[in-house]
Amino acid sequence: MENTPFYFYDLNVLDDTLNTVLNCTESDNFHIHYAIKANNNKKILEIIAAKGFGADCVSGWEIEASISAGFKPSSIAFAGVGKTDDEIAIALTNRIGMIHCESLEEILVINEMADSMNYIPKIALRLNPNVSALTHEKISTGLSENKFGLTVLEFAELVTIHPSLRNINIVGMHFHIGSQIIEMSVFEQLCERINEIVPQYENTIGKIEYLNVGGGLGVNYDNPDQGIIPEFEAYFDTFRWGLRKLNVPVHFELGRSIVAQCGSLHTKVLYVKKSESKNFAVLDAGMTELMRPALYGAKHKIEKLNQEDGLFGELTYDIVGPICESSDSFGSDVILPELRRGDILSIRSCGAYAESMSLRYNGRKEVGNNLKRQVNTSLRLVRTA
Ligand SMILES: *Cc1c(COP(=O)(O)O)cnc(C)c1O
Repeated sequence: MENTPFYFYDLNVLDDTLNTVLNCTESDNFHIHYAIKANNNKKILEIIAAKGFGADCVSGWEIEASISAGFKPSSIAFAGVGKTDDEIAIALTNRIGMIHCESLEEILVINEMADSMNYIPKIALRLNPNVSALTHEKISTGLSENKFGLTVLEFAELVTIHPSLRNINIVGMHFHIGSQIIEMSVFEQLCERINEIVPQYENTIGKIEYLNVGGGLGVNYDNPDQGIIPEFEAYFDTFRWGLRKLNVPVHFELGRSIVAQCGSLHTKVLYVKKSESKNFAVLDAGMTELMRPALYGAKHKIEKLNQEDGLFGELTYDIVGPICESSDSFGSDVILPELRRGDILSIRSCGAYAESMSLRYNGRKEVGNNLKRQVNTSLRLVRTA
């Protein structure tokens, strides 16, 4: 048994997921970019790049990491509401495929920086479609009150000045309305808004050659084994139908749905203690290793790995970490087989926004990881006892 806590990645699950995405999209003019921020583990990036996916980056570091993992620069899109000049320079010198712009000032800076580059970068405008993602407010980005995207005011100004911007090529539009979206009706609404916006764009800026609809497809956190492969078929069908009247390449930026279910956080029970009203299990992993519960109130399924069938009854636990913050909790009233010091728990659906969000707060060591091809994917509960 490796030293806990560590991230365990089942590469068979990752392969199955990637193959499903490819099967669902091969006959269309669909292009899939993997959102690096979900998980930037080098080995995982290499596997995704080798399957021919593009990359969606939100920092200069991510652009460099994705190129060194094998992603083609021409398949890289660079997004972000606050790109620094250094990061724009990284995008320009690497001749990446597309820069998604979120403010007029940013567009002017890129136009100026590209002047000396002897190359005309392609730009897509991130527009805010004012569609509610029906997800957690902290991961909802497509409403006009959010900080993301060009405002209507700035779009109008761009329309008047864009002929003078000679060092950039404005070729399309980008949308991203939020994350962990499971209602397909949300994506239908996005398609409707895109169909309304396209004529406005083409009448003012020019022909659309690039349409990026973002990411956001959700995964089953409650029952990962019943949703190991997310609903890619329904997702891509929604866009195939919703955008059928547009004859443009459609780009997607999927993060969570590609990597969430291949990962889990393995952690040891350090202590079990009882209060008048509760049982606490204190783990050796905390919010520093897995931040989503503390940050968003996210819930992850928790399983005991060393199951001794029938020996113990089930009890209700508050599962907490060792960090000096009250929000350092993975769930209350979680029903588990009776826990003892030394038991190993698996916190499921931890391939996305987990290891990549880990922190050094409280002087924590960098969390380890272990990538394996599980021999039998149906036997995800490894017996260690
Ligand atoms: C985070 C992000 C994504 C990926 O979102 P998922 O919900 O993980 O699919 C895609 N595009 C942009 C612009 C993002 O910020």
